[in-house]
Order: sequence, then C-alpha cells, then structure tokens
Amino acid sequence: MAQETHSQYFTLRRERLLAQLEARKLAGLLVTNLTNIFYLTGFRGSAGVALIGPSRSVLWVDPRYTLQAREQAQGLEVREAKGILAEEAVRWIRRKRLHRVGYEDSTLTCREFSFLKREGGRELRWVPAGGVVEDLRVVKDAEEINSIRKACQLTAEVFEEVRQEIRPGIREGDLAAEIEYRIKRKGAEGLAFDTIVCSGKRSAWPHARPSAKLLEKSNLVIVDLGAILGGYAADMTRTVYLGTPGPRVRRLYDAVRDAQEQAVAAVRAGKRACDIDRVARKVLERRKLDNYFTHSTGHGVGLEIHERPRLGRSDKTRLEDGCVITVEPGVYLEGFGGVRVEDTVLVTAGMSEVLTPAAKDIWFTS
Ligand code: ZN
Ligand code: ZN
Repeated sequence: MAQETHSQYFTLRRERLLAQLEARKLAGLLVTNLTNIFYLTGFRGSAGVALIGPSRSVLWVDPRYTLQAREQAQGLEVREAKGILAEEAVRWIRRKRLHRVGYEDSTLTCREFSFLKREGGRELRWVPAGGVVEDLRVVKDAEEINSIRKACQLTAEVFEEVRQEIRPGIREGDLAAEIEYRIKRKGAEGLAFDTIVCSGKRSAWPHARPSAKLLEKSNLVIVDLGAILGGYAADMTRTVYLGTPGPRVRRLYDAVRDAQEQAVAAVRAGKRACDIDRVARKVLERRKLDNYFTHSTGHGVGLEIHERPRLGRSDKTRLEDGCVITVEPGVYLEGFGGVRVEDTVLVTAGMSEVLTPAAKDIWFTS
C-alpha cells in the first residue's frame, strides 16, 4: 500500500511533464539528467536514460541496475542496454518513428548532443527542452515536502546537539567532522554539501572550507550544514560567538538576524523571489551594512542543494504554495568576521513555515 502511494507521486509528476510536452508539441522527452530521472521515475542509479512519452515511458539501464530499476521505477518499461544507453534509446525512438523529441540542453554536453544528432539521422528532430523538468521541481508535492521536512528536522537536531560542544580550542575541521558524523548516525543518507565551519577572520569568507584553525575566544563562528534524506536536501546556517559580544558584534548580529526574520516573515505564495531579497537588503541598508551583503538572499532547495528560484535582485519567479527556499542574508567584514543566519522555509498561502527551527541567539560566555 505504501509502495502504491509512493509510485503514484511519480506517475503524477510524469503526467505534469506530459502536459508540458504536449504544449510544446513534443512526442517525448529524452531525460539524461540523473536527478530528473529520479524525480520522474524513482530510479536512483548512477547511470540511466529515460524517454518519457504519452504512450510509453522507457528507462534504459546497464546490467548493474536492471533489478534495482525494475523495483524503483514503477510504471516504466525497464530495458537492459548492452551497449551505450543513449544509442539504444535513440534506436528505439527511431523504431517508434517519433519525429520531434525534446532533449535536456541545460545539462547535456556538446559531445553527447553531437552523438544524438548523428544517431538520430535526418528524420528525427531534437528540440531543446532543458529546464522543463527543473521548472516542475520548483513546486514540491506532499511526498517531497515530507522528505525535506525530515531532513531539516535532523539537521536542526544535530546543530542543537553540537552547539553544546562549540568552544575555544576545537579545530574547525574537527567540528565539521563531528557534525557530519552525527548527521549520518541519525540516519541521513548523506550530506547536502560539505559542512562549512569558519571562525574569526575566516568567517568573512562566506563559503570557506573548514581548516586546521582552532576556535578561539571572541571568534564569530559560522556553521552551515545540511542532511540528505529520501534524496532531499536541508540547508541551515547559524553563527555562534565565543564570549560576551561587544557592541560591534551585537550590531552585526542583530542586523543580520532582523534581516533574516523579516525576510522569512515576508515569504508567502504570490510574492516574487526578488521581493524577499529586497526585504532582507532593505533591513541591512538601513543599518549601512548592505555593501557587505555580497550574495543573494536564498535559493530553492530540493533534490539539489541549489535549485530554482534564486532569491536575488533579478529573479521574478512567483513563489507558490509548495515551494521550498532558503532565506540566508549574511554580512562579511574583511579582517573582522562574518555573520549569516539561514533557514529552509516552506512557502504556503498563509504564513511561511520555517523547517529548521534551531535556536538563533547563541553567545557562549564560558
Ligand atoms: Zn547553507
Ligand atoms: Zn543555502
């Protein structure tokens, strides 16, 4: 029963795609992006090619994945390819006399495309349709939200546990390793990205790699972490201060937290991605800190850690019920340090829902 419900989500996703293909007058879409293959079929192998079409949908895999594909890709015809997957797919497409077929030009390499063109021959017209599946992925269904919610809960729990252990004398790299170990011990499939721990002056580098540097008293420490569960990512950042903060650190921290909280409060269906970015930027502008906010306010999260939309100045995407985004303003002062606060947020028609509810005011005076 659970399996049936599970596979229904994949069927519904393919139906949404088919409506898009029909609007573009395409007889099918050749899906080569593995993330999109998982989204549409449930197959999670490291190699595969799918053709999603109105009459039939087929998944080609090599012999390593035949059994797995049969189990995971319910409702699809699984074909075991002996040679190159794309070659067999194109041969099949030609046999079925499909004339206009979409391909994922956003991720296919030039070399792969030349191959498709050559194998397709004159009768088969390849139509660029990159982004069609990524667009569907912007709005998450109940199954996806369920996975993201669990990944976020696990991520927030790990941070709450580990923050008790953040103190002077620990190496950045050791703290990152501890976080990653706990994420896996709690049942995550993996990490959404390499954990970021950067302290002191290094915290002014928004995406610094953890180093051998020891955490010291009076350091700002940025911790950015995320688990993967059910294929879906979580993303959360907290900034910790080791000591009693003076006025400069307080001013920075309060500004970023206010910007973050006001931007989160502005998130709802109907708003544009750039509107949320503007809210965060305005708060920092009033405190003359906007010049030090050097990245966008957030991004979509799902099967990939960075998805559409981008919460930046120019992305006018309308947020919809079921979008999942991050809200993560930050301020970085060279030679001093940085502050970033990030939550993963579920967009709804009413109030937005913060999925990573870990404490935010974190001063350590011991
Ligand atoms: Zn992050
Ligand atoms: Zn992020």
